[in-house]
Amino acid sequence: MAHVTEIFGSMTFNDEVMKQRLSKEVYKRLKHCTQNLQPIGVDIADSVANAMKNWAVEKGATHFTHWFQPMTGITAEKHDSFISPIANGKVIMEFSGKELVRGEPDASSFPSGGLRATFEARGYTAWDPTSYAFIKDDTLCIPTAFCSYSGEALDKKTPLLRSMEALDNQALRILKLFGTTNVNRVTTTVGPEQEYFLIDKKTYLQRPDLVACGRTLFGARPPKGQELDDHYFGSLKGRVSEFMKELDQELWKLGVYAKTKHNEVAPAQHELAPIFTSTNIATDHNQITMELMQKIANKHNMACLLHEKPFAGINGSGKHNNWSLSTDTGINLLEPGDTPHENAQFLLFLVAVIKAVDEHQDLLRISVANAGNDHRLGANEAPPAIISIFLGEELEAILKAIDNGDEYVGKERIHMEIGASVLPKFPKDTTDRNRTSPFAFTGNKFEFRMVGSTFSISGPNVILNTIVAESLSQFADELEKADDFNATLSDIIKQEIAEHKRIIFNGNNYADEWVAEAKARGLLNLRTTVDALPYYVKDENIDLFTKHGVLSRPEMLARYEIMLEEYAKTIRIEALTFIDMVKKGIVPSTISYEAEIAKVMRLKFKADISEKLEHRLLTKLSQLLDTLYDKLEVLEGSLLQEDSDNSLENAKFYREVVFSQMNELRAVVDELETLVADKYWEYPTYAEILYSVI
Ligand code: ADP
Ligand code: MG
Repeated sequence: MAHVTEIFGSMTFNDEVMKQRLSKEVYKRLKHCTQNLQPIGVDIADSVANAMKNWAVEKGATHFTHWFQPMTGITAEKHDSFISPIANGKVIMEFSGKELVRGEPDASSFPSGGLRATFEARGYTAWDPTSYAFIKDDTLCIPTAFCSYSGEALDKKTPLLRSMEALDNQALRILKLFGTTNVNRVTTTVGPEQEYFLIDKKTYLQRPDLVACGRTLFGARPPKGQELDDHYFGSLKGRVSEFMKELDQELWKLGVYAKTKHNEVAPAQHELAPIFTSTNIATDHNQITMELMQKIANKHNMACLLHEKPFAGINGSGKHNNWSLSTDTGINLLEPGDTPHENAQFLLFLVAVIKAVDEHQDLLRISVANAGNDHRLGANEAPPAIISIFLGEELEAILKAIDNGDEYVGKERIHMEIGASVLPKFPKDTTDRNRTSPFAFTGNKFEFRMVGSTFSISGPNVILNTIVAESLSQFADELEKADDFNATLSDIIKQEIAEHKRIIFNGNNYADEWVAEAKARGLLNLRTTVDALPYYVKDENIDLFTKHGVLSRPEMLARYEIMLEEYAKTIRIEALTFIDMVKKGIVPSTISYEAEIAKVMRLKFKADISEKLEHRLLTKLSQLLDTLYDKLEVLEGSLLQEDSDNSLENAKFYREVVFSQMNELRAVVDELETLVADKYWEYPTYAEILYSVI
């Protein structure tokens, strides 16, 4: 096997390759454009395209594609070959700057939330040179943004790039105020930890609900679930280990910093964590990771489940979004420093995040809202639907001291004078890290733990970047006009702590008391997607996004529509799949078993049989089957109703009516599953699925 350092990035058109293959002049100009987010001229584009094509063809590529991230949350690609006909029936391989920079996919089938009228069905894709092109399946993939013809964002990359720029602008204003002049850019960095399940492919294909919906719609609890905690960090099974090895290799080739892999809490559950990088690249890489996980699992005769809650009663999967801010000089702005000056700056950035999270709880909640994650948030495994921040004992005590104007009494006694005192050193990774917190400070970054495993991390990071940009812009406005910088700084920090300390909670987020206390503190508790989504289009939220140039009003309204539609469609597909499985699998299974029992009864008994087990069982099955059919018809009836024109009403209907009816139906199916003999039961059980990989 080739050395990791040799294969790493070998399928990417990375900086080293660019240096080798571009003229000095072109390389310099391209670098300048990418670093300063400027458009790339036609002449440079032509040279880059040609070099890219030569490199890709040498690596065996025959096609190119503009790789983009429409609102479906997965990536899209349309492949064009490099061939170009020449005389005598031959072809040459060609790729122009124009083709590199801009593509025009017919995009009428991607969700647009009404932004793109059908008469202008075409969208266009524009190269994002800040993320390296790469080769996948013999195709040169060019990371691109996807917009409508009139320039509205139709994807997840465009607002992310805009939000990174917004944060960059505001953070630079602050750094300048602190006298920093050598920083040109502030970038947000992210390391997303990805959870997933691996099950046997044959078992997977026997469950139409897993295939169509990504989750099981029924299934009685297995005798052994995750009670023994014997899977967490356990040794890897051979097949899983082979899968992970290949996944690492393939990810490394594509320049993805896959770092940590281990078994998770639930049986068949695993995690992969990369080393953090710029948010835009981390987002692209996480999409690639999810795609490769599924492909490589398939190769190993397994299925990779990315759904937030594939199995009821068993831990679901999330994606911890580790987020921080870093300067192009390599300074992490959320890292406490060694001097009073650095500490004052750290405290200001820290307070900016605290303020942002408190003031925009609704947006953060929405950024992790979908039908799948509704099964997780608020259940006993994931953070609740209430947003709060964990700071750790020491930092919380420091903020408290500032708030009260007291001395901080830690290992040393300090009077916390902002800009004059040095923060005590607190360990980066304290052992009392609170695993129940939805938003935890972990030494030099924040870990947002509510993100669902299927999500593109673009959404949550667009929100984080934008709301923190807003805090920073308010601080900068005040500080820029201050006569006494230190005094104003100190006032801001004190005042913001006083105003937003309610969002800080170091206790157990899973406890019932927290729900009551959070309510008393006035924190939002938006339990479901349909509870949360209407907040998205509140005027103040639209103003916020507009102010920072991240999303326009029409873009937000469109996204709102898309989210509501996606929610309703997801539940509808689940309900239809469930009905189908009940009719074609569960009812026939039960009837076959009943027939078997009836046959035995005829053979065995002549006289009174009412006390016999066979009779009792048959009666029970028969009763359950009746109930099952009643509930099935109710659900079918609901699905026959015409959808409302109002997307919110429609989503509410699916949540309040259809989803509840599915749960009722499920309860009956689960009971039947415990009674019907295995050989008659049509579908693999939880135990069979969860322990299918041996
Ligand atoms: P855990 O104990 O949750 O696994 P780790 O310290 O191992 O935490 O880090 C988890 C993730 O956080 C990794 O993906 C790591 O690269 C990422 N991370 C570390 N520092 C930063 C940072 N400054 N910005 C963003 N992500 C970071
Ligand atoms: Mg983590």
